[in-house]
Amino acid sequence: MSDPIKTDVLIIGAGPVGLFAVFELGLLDIKAHLVDILDKIGGQCAELYPEKPIYDIPGIPHTSAQGLVDALMAQIKPFNPQFHLNDMVEMIEKIGDPLFRVKTDNGKLFEAKVVVIAAGGGSFQPKRPPIPGIEAYEDKSVFYSVRKRDAFRDKKLLIVGGGDSALDWTLNLAPIASHLTLLHRRSEFRASPDTVNKMMAMVGEGQIDFVTGQVAGLEGENGMLRAANIRRDDKSTFHIACDAMLPFFGLTMKLGPVANWGLKMDGELIPVETAAFETSVPGIFAIGDINTYPGKLKLILCGFHEGALMAQKAHRYVYPDKKLVFQYTTSSTSLQKKLGVA
Ligand SMILES: Cc1cc2nc3c(=O)[nH]c(=O)nc-3n(C[C@H](O)[C@H](O)[C@H](O)COP(=O)(O)OP(=O)(O)OC[C@H]3O[C@@H](n4cnc5c(N)ncnc54)[C@H](O)[C@@H]3O)c2cc1C
Repeated sequence: MSDPIKTDVLIIGAGPVGLFAVFELGLLDIKAHLVDILDKIGGQCAELYPEKPIYDIPGIPHTSAQGLVDALMAQIKPFNPQFHLNDMVEMIEKIGDPLFRVKTDNGKLFEAKVVVIAAGGGSFQPKRPPIPGIEAYEDKSVFYSVRKRDAFRDKKLLIVGGGDSALDWTLNLAPIASHLTLLHRRSEFRASPDTVNKMMAMVGEGQIDFVTGQVAGLEGENGMLRAANIRRDDKSTFHIACDAMLPFFGLTMKLGPVANWGLKMDGELIPVETAAFETSVPGIFAIGDINTYPGKLKLILCGFHEGALMAQKAHRYVYPDKKLVFQYTTSSTSLQKKLGVA
């Protein structure tokens, strides 16, 4: 186990609300690390609807969801937040008053004076395709994400799906796999046109195979795949030899480990008070879609407000001996210096 990474605040979730919390904390000289299960920053905005327009962000008549994430990243740049992507927080342990030890599924350890849970609807989890007996192969030769690209070097790979993940990983893994087949139920794709063109070019050059059909069954022993049985629309079947399969059938949201962190829960949500959005454990806050209180609206602008009030209380834990003076960014030279504009 590695030495813990020490930080003032650990933010769980790099969605829009977690990102804006970095800004509000940064104005108060509070440093933050952020952990997210996803391989990208931006939560639901980046994962579920990056190109959709948003019309209800105060002061921005319209932007795309990804545009909002990009703007938030530019806004928090002066505070140099540290991101830990592809990491799921599994455990929070209270080790001081307040001091928390936080552990991720990759064995990363943090020590933070304050924990901010901005985990949205919980963790995005891959959808399991309806293939009989697939469970026996999961994490041995069937994988729903690529954690280490090199794990697929020299493998006979079968990638299943027609969206961005399936096609991006097809392009990415083709150069290191011994053979790669992309399988999709039809020849139309949901991925970006540029990625589709690149994939089709690889097919044309004979670097990969593309076939249409659906996986009807798997063959192998002890969790190790030997082949997948494929069924076409006309009910005819054939085999594809493979020793690893990557199905990309989209994501659903599940609460995940949040339920095990010893906090009072209200169903799948964390109840908070509305002066600082603190949970039942002092020093642990919950902001954004994950929290609940009378009148709660699951809107980004509400999460921004919650982050601002959370930061004021977090300051008391991080700097117990310092008095907090309320200031405006328009008129405070000290805040402007922090933002790098004075
Ligand atoms: C299609 C669609 C359209 C929408 N349109 C609008 C709109 O127009 N206006 C508006 O205000 N809102 C809109 N929303 C809602 C808005 O996206 C959410 O309110 C917002 O994303 C909540 O932000 P968040 O940061 O709280 O959570 P999220 O965006 O859900 O981010 C939470 C992050 O936490 C991570 N996470 C969860 N558990 C863990 C863990 N254990 N360890 C590490 N990371 C974890 C997740 O991977 C995720 O990235 C829309 C939502 C959808 C789906």
